[in-house]
Amino acid sequence: MDKNKKVYIAGHRGMVGSALMRKLRTEGFDNIITRTSRELDLRNQQAVEEFFQKEKPDYVFLAAAKVGGILANNTYRAEFIYDNLMIEANVIHSAYNNGTEKLMFLGSSCIYPKMAPQPLKEDYLLTGLLEPTNEPYAIAKISGIKMCDAYRAQYGSNFISVMPTNLYGPNDNYDLKKSHVLPALIRKFHEAKVKNAPHVMMWGTGSPKREFLHVDDLAAACYYLMENYNEEGLVNIGTGEDIAIIDLARMVKEVVGYKGEIQHDLTKPDGTPRKLMDVGKLRDLGWTAGISLEEGIRSVYENVDKVSWGTNLNCDASVAKEEMFQSANDFLTRLGFTVESKDENRPWGGFFVLPESDAKDFIRYFFPDVDMKDFEGYSKLSPKLLLVAPEKRLSWQYHHRRSEIWRVVGGTAGIVVSDTDEQTSPRDLSLGEIVELEKGQRHRLFGTSGWGLVAEIWKHTDATEPSDEEDIVRVQDDFGR
Ligand code: NDP
Repeated sequence: MDKNKKVYIAGHRGMVGSALMRKLRTEGFDNIITRTSRELDLRNQQAVEEFFQKEKPDYVFLAAAKVGGILANNTYRAEFIYDNLMIEANVIHSAYNNGTEKLMFLGSSCIYPKMAPQPLKEDYLLTGLLEPTNEPYAIAKISGIKMCDAYRAQYGSNFISVMPTNLYGPNDNYDLKKSHVLPALIRKFHEAKVKNAPHVMMWGTGSPKREFLHVDDLAAACYYLMENYNEEGLVNIGTGEDIAIIDLARMVKEVVGYKGEIQHDLTKPDGTPRKLMDVGKLRDLGWTAGISLEEGIRSVYENVDKVSWGTNLNCDASVAKEEMFQSANDFLTRLGFTVESKDENRPWGGFFVLPESDAKDFIRYFFPDVDMKDFEGYSKLSPKLLLVAPEKRLSWQYHHRRSEIWRVVGGTAGIVVSDTDEQTSPRDLSLGEIVELEKGQRHRLFGTSGWGLVAEIWKHTDATEPSDEEDIVRVQDDFGR
C-alpha cells in the first residue's frame, strides 16, 4: 500500500474499524477518510455513489456492518440480511465504479456450515447448511465474499475477503445483554471483585472451546494481507488455538484479581463444543498472531473504562424524571450500594446519598486511580450520585475546606470552572471523565442535551476542621438561596 494514497475505512467507530485506524496511523497513513453512519448511511445507494465519486478512495476497508449476538441475529432477521446486503452491494459496486485500487471485505466465522469439521478451513464454505439462528447474517456475508470474487473475475478488481474469528480488545461491548463471552466475563469478575461477591456464576460446564484474537492483531493481519494477498476466495484470520471457556474464566479471574469461586449453572446449555479456524493459509502467506491471550486480556482490563460499562442507562432528554431516578437507583443497588436518602426535587434534578460505610467501595469503584490515603481518617466523605436534568444548572459555588472529585458515569453533562467569580466558557464532560474541583475553585455543573449522572466524593483539605454541608459559598444561585 502506498502511504500517500487515500484510504476509506467504512465503520471506523466500530471495534474493527477503530483498530484499523490505529494500525494505519501507526504505519504512517495520514490520508484516511471516514464517515459515521449518520453522515453516510451505507444502505443508501445514491449517497454511497456520490461519496465515492467525490472522494475517490484508493483503498477501502469494509468494516461497516450490522452486527449482534444470537438474540439480535434471530430477532431482527430481516434487518440483518437487508442492511448487510445493501452495505456490501453499495460499497463494493461504488468502489468498482470509481476505480478503487484495492478493497478488503470483512466477514465472520459464522459463514461456515453448522456441521463443518473443525478446525474450519476456507474450503468448507458452502458445503453444508448454516446455523439457522444467524442464517440471514451469514448469507449476507457469503454474498459479500462472492461479490468480491465476481468483480475480480469479470472486471479484474483487486477485492479480497477475510474472515476473522471471535475478537476482543478496545471498543468492545460490555452490555451483558449483548456482549460476547470474553467481555462479559471481564465485567462479571470485575463487578464481583468490587462487591466482594463470594462467587461468579457461569453458564453450563465451561467445556466448549473457543478461539479469541485481539483486534489489534486482526488489524495487523488485515494490513499484511492488503500488502501481500491478491487472490479470490477468503482468508481466515485467527490464532489457530482455542481454549475451554472454563480455562478462559480462570484466566480472566486471575487477571482481574478476583478471589472468590467460579460456580456453574448447569441448567443452562453448553453451546457448540468447538469453534476453531484453520489458519494454515494465513500462516503460509507469512502472518501469525503476536498478542497472547493473557497479555491481551490484561491490557484490555487495565484500559477499559469500568464505570461507563456499568451504567447502560437511557439518559435521553425524553426520559421522565421518575424513570431516570428509578434506573439510577437500580444502577446503584445492582452495584451493591445502599441508598441512604435521596432528593428528587431539586430545581436542577436531584441526588442520591450513600451511607459513609459505602464510601470506600464507592471510591474504589468510581475513582479507582485516587490515593485512598487522602480519604482516610475522615468520618464524612459524602458519597453521592447527582442527576442533572437536561439544560438545567446548579449554582455557581465553591468550598473553603474541601475539593470535590466528580465523574460522569452516565449520560452527558457540562461544567464551568474558574479561579475567580467571573464565569468562564462552559465545557462538555465526556462519559467516564473525572474532574477534581480544587478548594476555592468556582464551579457549576450543568445539564446538556440529556440527563447527566455524576458520582461525587469529598476530599478534605483541612484535617483539623473537616468540611461539612455548611462549607459552601453560592456566588450566584438561580434559585434564590
Ligand atoms: P461494530 O458494531 O463495532 O461496528 C460496526 C460499524 O459499522 C459501526 O461503526 C457503524 O458505524 C457501522 N455501520 C453499521 N451500519 C451502518 C450503516 N447503515 N451505514 C454506515 N455505517 C454503518 O462491529 P465490529 O467492528 O465488531 O465488526 C466489523 C466487521 O467485523 C463486521 O463485518 C463483522 O462481521 C466483522 N467481525 C467482527 C467480529 C467481532 O468479534 N467483533 C468477529 C468477526 C468478524 P457508526 O458507529 O457510525 O454507527
